[in-house]
Amino acid sequence: MINSVASIPLQIRKIIYEKLNDTSLRFTNDEIFEILKGNIDQSLTIDDMPQFFKQLHDDGLLRPIAQDFTTQWYKLFAEVEQFKCNSCNLEIHLGKLEPRVCPNLECKSPI
Ligand SMILES: [Zn+2]
Repeated sequence: MINSVASIPLQIRKIIYEKLNDTSLRFTNDEIFEILKGNIDQSLTIDDMPQFFKQLHDDGLLRPIAQDFTTQWYKLFAEVEQFKCNSCNLEIHLGKLEPRVCPNLECKSPI
């Protein structure tokens, strides 16, 4: 099992795949955190999230388009697809333009 903090970017990817998988949509960190917060360590707050969104930007999944105080709006670079990683056995979610590499940092196997 991967630890809960390492799983947060993977959970954000899943939320985007399931609820926000449209390149014309704008969505916010607040919206995603509202969905995420029931599943993560309760000591984590919205203020802990920027590092995870930055990672997802660096990975090439999403890009920031606007900011208003702590609310950040994002858009996807491309549609997100679901895969099953044959190495770590997780269901994972990758944008179509991202490298075909497992986003589980403890795995990183080619997909
Ligand atoms: Zn994997």
